[in-house]
Order: sequence, then C-alpha cells, then structure tokens
Amino acid sequence: MEWITQNGIMVGTFPPLKAIAPELEVFITTRDGGVSEAPFASLNLGGALGDSAGNIRTNRRLVLEALGISPRRLARTGQIHGSEIAIVTRGGHYPGFDGFVTARGGLTLAISTADCYSVVIFSPPERSLAALHVGRRGAERGIIDRAVGTMCTEHRIDPAYAVAIVGPGVCAACYTVSREDALRFPKEVRRFEHRAWHLDLEAFIMRELLRAGIKRRNVFSSRLCTACNPTLFFSHRRDRCVTGRHWTLATVRAPRGTRRTM
Ligand SMILES: [Zn+2]
Repeated sequence: MEWITQNGIMVGTFPPLKAIAPELEVFITTRDGGVSEAPFASLNLGGALGDSAGNIRTNRRLVLEALGISPRRLARTGQIHGSEIAIVTRGGHYPGFDGFVTARGGLTLAISTADCYSVVIFSPPERSLAALHVGRRGAERGIIDRAVGTMCTEHRIDPAYAVAIVGPGVCAACYTVSREDALRFPKEVRRFEHRAWHLDLEAFIMRELLRAGIKRRNVFSSRLCTACNPTLFFSHRRDRCVTGRHWTLATVRAPRGTRRTM
C-alpha cells in the first residue's frame, strides 16, 4: 500500500492496480485530516459511536470531496457481523448487510472498519465489484465465499481473473480471542502464546480468497495492523471500544472516452 495525499486528505492506495485493473479505485482513509476530537480524533467516519453528528457529516464531506466521490453514489453497509451480501445498483444505506456486489460503474462501495478487515474483490472482464466487512464472525460465516459465489452467479465471473485487496486490520499479536472462538478456526491461523489464544484473521482471509479461486499473485494486502499503529488508525480493541471508524472506498470508474453509466 502507498500513501497519497489528495486535496488535503491522506489515503492508502494500491499501486499494482494501475497496471492490472486501472479502472478500479480503492482508497483507505486514516484517522488524520478530520474535525472530530478525542477519542474520535480526527477523521471519524462512523456514526452511532458517540461522536457528534455535525463532525461526522463534516468528515464525510471532506473525504468525499477530496476523492471526487458523489454522496448520492455512495453505498454504505449496516455491518452487523453477518455474511449477507446486497446486490446494489444505487447509493444509500443498507442496514443488515456486511457486503456489497455491484457491476454499476461510478457507484462507490464504502466499508467502515476499526480492527475488522475490509476486502475488495474485482473481476475486470465483467467489471464486477464486491466490498466486504470481514470480522471474525463474518469470516467464520463464510462472507468471502458468499461474495465470490454471488459474483459468479450474478456476473458470471471467473475468480482466476479477479483481484482482491485486503485493508488494514488487527494483527495476530494484537488479537486475542477465547479458546472456544479460536478452535472454530483451522490450526494454521490460530496459536496459543503468552497464555492466550491469538487469531490471525488476515491469514484466514487469504486462505478464504484462495479457496474461492482467486490467485495469490492477484491478492494485495496493506499488511498494516490497526492496533499497532495508533497515529494512523482507530482500533476498537486498543481503544477499548470507544473510537472512530475508517472507510475503505471502492469504485469502478467508467473507461476514458465513454459516458458514465450513472
Ligand atoms: Zn498489531
């Protein structure tokens, strides 16, 4: 992942996409560049967490303006740690869903996180795009497999041609879980260390992407831990549940020289 500053807002981008999927734009925001005060300082984009509605509105406007994204073309999930996928063609708020699939150019899919991972999957031939909120429970419920399955049935993609982007999230060293929760996962992604069970959610996500048919060479991960990087990221665990949220924003832009489809 590479950091760029666009109109005053610093965002993470994935340079290899320019060559293999130039029409796909993925941006990851940080906690820097907004107006909220501690513990939401400063670019909190999540609602219903205790931050003022005015600050959240301002922060969202700053991000969308800086990145050239229309608020009317922004689709946001409700995120309930489930595995339900909404097939969307227009902007709005979709409660009850943790993932989106679309083939609509110009529609931006937003995933809000602070330790959970965001996963973006894109198949260039069909311009099929998915964006997912992947925490422990969603991962365990198979949200990645469901998303790829939806892309296959709705848009007839071949996962061998798809690319996947994995955003920042909590690393295995920072992520302790109960023994019961750890044992729900395969042994390659869990370990008992310093008298606690640790889960490597990123490794599990990688495993799920490969199992769904995506090639390892087409998966790009930020490799950044939200809990290990307090100046860059909010962390639900590190900040003891009182903290903000970042957005991962994914858009398929219309090819140059063609009319926008929305
Ligand atoms: Zn960490």
